[in-house]
Amino acid sequence: MKYCAECKTEYVDDVTFCPDCGGELLDEAAWQEMLRQIDQQQTKLQGIKMASACSVSGRVEALQIQVILEQEQIPVFIRTFEETAYDGLFVTQKGWGEIWVAEGRLEEARGIIEELRKTPPPPPPEDGQTPQ
Ligand SMILES: [Zn+2]
Repeated sequence: MKYCAECKTEYVDDVTFCPDCGGELLDEAAWQEMLRQIDQQQTKLQGIKMASACSVSGRVEALQIQVILEQEQIPVFIRTFEETAYDGLFVTQKGWGEIWVAEGRLEEARGIIEELRKTPPPPPPEDGQTPQ
């Protein structure tokens, strides 16, 4: 099976993009890894002072940034507006979410994110719109 990272719908393997929201589909292993990481970061980061490093347009972009920051051992946390309020009202107003990092490494993290955005992989297909 494949899974939509944006709206969490399940699909058969020959589908590449989510017909509902246009989100990129993850295979089973990537999906499980994503769930595991989200779970892990929520327990791991308790007690660390965090600050917002940048905003992101979707889960795929957020995970790209997260992976790179974790390679540098920077504590990182994805905060989505999806999960915080009003049936996605914030999503249209402010983008999909934000990357938060340990406050002490904020400048370093911002530099890394800037570098990443200068040499982007193929742009993610989602446009930050909220699925109905
Ligand atoms: Zn979707």
